[in-house]
Amino acid sequence: MSSWRIASAARLAKRLMPANGDMDGLLANLAQHRGRKIHVLARDFAGQPTSGLWIFAERADYLVIDDPTTPSRRAAIICHEVAHILLGHRAQAGGAALIAAAAPDLSPELIARAMARHSYATQEEAEAEALATQIATEQAVRCRSTQPGPHSIMRWR
Ligand SMILES: [Zn+2]
Repeated sequence: MSSWRIASAARLAKRLMPANGDMDGLLANLAQHRGRKIHVLARDFAGQPTSGLWIFAERADYLVIDDPTTPSRRAAIICHEVAHILLGHRAQAGGAALIAAAAPDLSPELIARAMARHSYATQEEAEAEALATQIATEQAVRCRSTQPGPHSIMRWR
């Protein structure tokens, strides 16, 4: 695992994250930084051993996340997929059937690269999870410092 790449991606994530830790704001800033739109789609992943997908299409990035899910779970999945994007990971072979099931309104030929979240078995998954933990921690700190009242502790797997 390259700790330098993770640290540098974490610095970028902190720059892109709004002061209040808002995830949609982070995605908007990330989209602007990349010059590509990012769409979040909720799909039922019932029976699939994954909870999030990053689909790199020609003109936009799609984050497909398991639905229904809680706001903190949603944030955790998005942090993980954002981590893959920030680390410049590429698609892995396979997974086309899952992607088609998760995002039926995306035409297959538009899908240039895709990545399924499955396990920590690969180095990229370990890197993404290490960075996602840092992003999620930063987000929790910013939410806590800008929102009054109690809030739940977020857990990231
Ligand atoms: Zn992953």
